[in-house]
Parts: sequence; C-alpha cells; structure tokens
Amino acid sequence: MKKIEQWVRPNIRQLKPYSSARNEFSGEASVWLDANESPFNLPYNRYPDPLQNDLKEKLAKQRGVMPENIFLGVGSDEAIDLLYRIFCEPGRDNAVSITPTYGMYRVCADINGVEYREVPLKKDFSLDCDAILQTIDTHSRLLFLCSPNNPTGNVFPAIEIERLITAFDGIVVVDEAYIDFSSRPSWIRRLNEFHNLVVLQTFSKAWGSAGVRLGMAFASPDIIGYYNQVKYPYNISDLVQRYAMEMLDRENEVRRWVDEILSVRSRFVERLSDIPMVKTVYPSDANFVLVKMVESEKIYLRLVTDGIVVRNRSKVALCGDCLRITIGTDREMNVLLETLKSYS
Ligand code: PMP
Repeated sequence: MKKIEQWVRPNIRQLKPYSSARNEFSGEASVWLDANESPFNLPYNRYPDPLQNDLKEKLAKQRGVMPENIFLGVGSDEAIDLLYRIFCEPGRDNAVSITPTYGMYRVCADINGVEYREVPLKKDFSLDCDAILQTIDTHSRLLFLCSPNNPTGNVFPAIEIERLITAFDGIVVVDEAYIDFSSRPSWIRRLNEFHNLVVLQTFSKAWGSAGVRLGMAFASPDIIGYYNQVKYPYNISDLVQRYAMEMLDRENEVRRWVDEILSVRSRFVERLSDIPMVKTVYPSDANFVLVKMVESEKIYLRLVTDGIVVRNRSKVALCGDCLRITIGTDREMNVLLETLKSYS
C-alpha cells in the first residue's frame, strides 16, 4: 500500500464516489439529455465541469505544476475541511498546529470531531519545532503551518518547515494564503520532493477576489485524487471558473496591486511607529500588520465608533494588546492614522 493510502480514513479509502452525468460523459455532443438540466437559459442551464479542467490547465502552466497537482475549492476553507474528512478518523486521530494562527484549522477539527493540538510559537513568533515534534503522536495525521502566518505576519524559515515535513509521518499543510506579499518562494516548487506536502493558496488576498470564493490546494496526484473523491460533484460554479480564467490573464495587474499594497504598507508602518500609543509594529510579510498598542481594546472600540474596523486580536495567544490591521489604500490608511493621532 502506498504511504498516502495508509493515512487515509478507511471509509474514504473504500469510498465509491458519486459519478455525475458530466463525469461519465465529458466529450463533445450536440444534444445533451443526460443531466436533467433545462434546455433554456444558456449557458447557465448546464452543470459546470466537475474537475474544472480548463481552469486547472491554465493555472498549472502559470504555477509550474501539472493539472493533476491541483484541487480547487470554495475558498481554501473547503480545502482545509476536506483534509480532515480524508485523513482524520473522528475520535481517534488528531491534528497539530501552532498558536496563534488561522482560526479555521481548529473550527474544522471541531466540526469533524477531531482532536486539535496547539503548540505555542516562541515569544518572537518563531516556530518551536522541538515542541511540535514532541506533540505529534502516532494518531497525528495533519500538521498545519501557516506561512506567512496569520495574525503574526511572519514567514517561517524553509529549513524549519523542511525539518517538520521530513520528520512528520502524516500530511503537512503549508497555508500560503499571503505568499504573494512575501519575497520568499512558494513551497509549490518543492511538491515533487515531498509526497506528504499540501500547499494552500487562495484568490481571496493578492488576487482581489475574496467575494468569488476560490481556493487552491497543490499536492501529489494521490492526495488530489482523494480530494476529488470527497468533494461535492460541482463545487466550483461555471461563473467562478470563467471569472478565474479571466483573472489569470490579469497576472501583471495583480503584481502591480501587490507592489502598491507593499509600498502603502511601508509608508503606513513608518508613520504608525510615530504614534505614542503604538508600542510595537511587528514585521510583516503579508497584507496586514500586527500592532501592539496601549489599551488596544479601548482603541478598537473607539475606532469602531469612528467607522473604522480593524481586527481585535488582543485575546489571542501571544497577541495581548494587539490589533491586526489590513493594508488598504493610501487614503484609507491615512484616515486610520489621522484618527489614531486624534486620540492622543
Ligand atoms: N488561510 C489563511 C491563513 C487565511 O487568513 C484565510 C482567510 N482569512 C484563509 C486561509 C481562507 O481563505 P479563503 O478565502 O480562500 O477561504
């Protein structure tokens, strides 16, 4: 049995997936009478391609992988949830992650009845690899590493992530939702080296398409095969598939957006540091900054009253008195800066 198969839940290993009309016949035809669709309201009357082949082909070329390395989900949130369903037997297996990090890893564990083990980052937000390895046991199936990490904004060194991928007898998920804002290379280029690696990316951040709900998992064809078995047959709508094809043609524009966000971020950080109530602005490789403030809770509420919403992270582990601030336009950041100045 292949290694990946050994980690898969027995019911999923034995699953006979639903075979949709469009799975059974996907060629050219002039008369389509196989899927109980309406003959009216073209082109929306037809079910979408269940495997999103055209989109995957285009995306594969852009990312330098094979279409067989790609799963597309309703946001990366779907890709996270399905990993639990594929690999974790409820009540028996566990998932390991860091804290603080993105909240959906825990929520999906809870929904799926899977134990979730959190290993605190060190005080400087670096990985505690030894503690992570000590937390892992024979029932650990998933290890989530968000890099750049949300909400701390830092990227973890490749050497440390590689140590964990190599040492862990299970699936390592590197969540790269914010990778486009970082100068570090994506783990996608190392997929062929590690059969237990899943890399998550999304259209929701740098690609400016959070409302569309499209996330990506890149992994070995074996893992993608299991994703395809457990997903809903038509999880990505035709509208979204077309939209994403058009978005991929706008790669240069997306790069310009990222450059703009990065220059707004550096101007914002510089000016923010001059405000007396700001204690620490943590370095960021993402489109947000984590900021420690004097009486952050009060500031958060005052900002809300003034119509400015940031993310209050002050109750999150290691983030006492911290607000997470997304980088918007120059104008939006100036409004925030002027408002903060008016409080001192
Ligand atoms: N991963 C991280 C680290 C995130 O911060 C987010 C959203 N905030 C997601 C995944 C989910 O992204 P999506 O919109 O693709 O579901």
